[in-house]
Amino acid sequence: MSMSAKQSSHLAWSWALFPLTLFLFPLLIESHPTTISQSFQFIKNLQGCHKGQTIKGLHELKKYLAKFGYLPSQSIPSNDSNNNTEHDDYFDELLESAIKTYQFNYNLNVTGLLDSKTMVNMMMPRCGVPDIVDGRSSMGSGTERRLGSFKLHIVSHYSFFPGAPKWPKSKTHLTYGFVPGVQVIDKQTLRSIFALSFARWKSVSQFTFEETQHYDSADLQIGFFRGDHGDGLPFDGPGNVLAHSFAPTTGVSHFDADETWSTKLARDSPDLESVATHEIGHLIGLGHSSVKSAIMYPVISFGVRKVKLTGDDIKGIHALYNIAWCFLSSSIFSPFPTRCTLYIVRE
Ligand SMILES: [Zn+2]
Ligand SMILES: [Zn+2]
Repeated sequence: MSMSAKQSSHLAWSWALFPLTLFLFPLLIESHPTTISQSFQFIKNLQGCHKGQTIKGLHELKKYLAKFGYLPSQSIPSNDSNNNTEHDDYFDELLESAIKTYQFNYNLNVTGLLDSKTMVNMMMPRCGVPDIVDGRSSMGSGTERRLGSFKLHIVSHYSFFPGAPKWPKSKTHLTYGFVPGVQVIDKQTLRSIFALSFARWKSVSQFTFEETQHYDSADLQIGFFRGDHGDGLPFDGPGNVLAHSFAPTTGVSHFDADETWSTKLARDSPDLESVATHEIGHLIGLGHSSVKSAIMYPVISFGVRKVKLTGDDIKGIHALYNIAWCFLSSSIFSPFPTRCTLYIVRE
């Protein structure tokens, strides 16, 4: 992937600012005290680390990147094999490439260096669904194509699960139920929060949603669990991973019960309604987006309420279910179906 002039310019600035960011790193860490989970203590050793170095903690970083699809998980030795783990604290080319992809997906300067902004981003609360599945990701991948003398900038920052699984055409009414697990908030509040989140997706799609008490036969099953809860994707305690969901038509969404879920904005807590709206996007087939304002962006700070579906989210769900329209030059309406928005740019 080539870097744009804008990115190159940022790169030049990042080198100029590098000693400053190193100095500021502890301050950045301090300014995010509530977002650092216990599992992230290793990262403090890694500031400014780069290719060719062997530093304790890099093995943990590789595990983190593998968890979200940036490294093949089979390339990471398990913690049981201590010798391998020691060997795996080496910053090799594969790790540098994984960090560059991560930085590209999150609109960070693509340096391959473990700079402070990259590390702070990694420690932010986020969704547990990988950004890359089976080595494929469309996060951040706007592309350009040529049509005669026009250059088409095809913007498609939303993504789907591999193979674009979706609900069948005839299945537009989906029931949802709350699976008994850990109770984190009272049931009535939980029900009204999810009703609001489902209503947002209903307003931009063909779907209608209805709560059912028969959770075991519901199309969408929602539950709160802590730690290892039997699906091979254990939660990590307070901070970092907040929830995860499975692609259609599995219809399963789990929330980490160890989080201090907030139903009214609280500085040190994840906002349940915001995360619920994001996870519902997965339940109906969307993957992650690199658009920071999008609901399907994987990272969300504590104390932030983000519930409004953006154009990117809506374009994504329309494209998946072929209910999209196309806007030319952002003003002329065109009814032909497309998978993206087209902007015509004269050279
Ligand atoms: Zn997600
Ligand atoms: Zn789970």
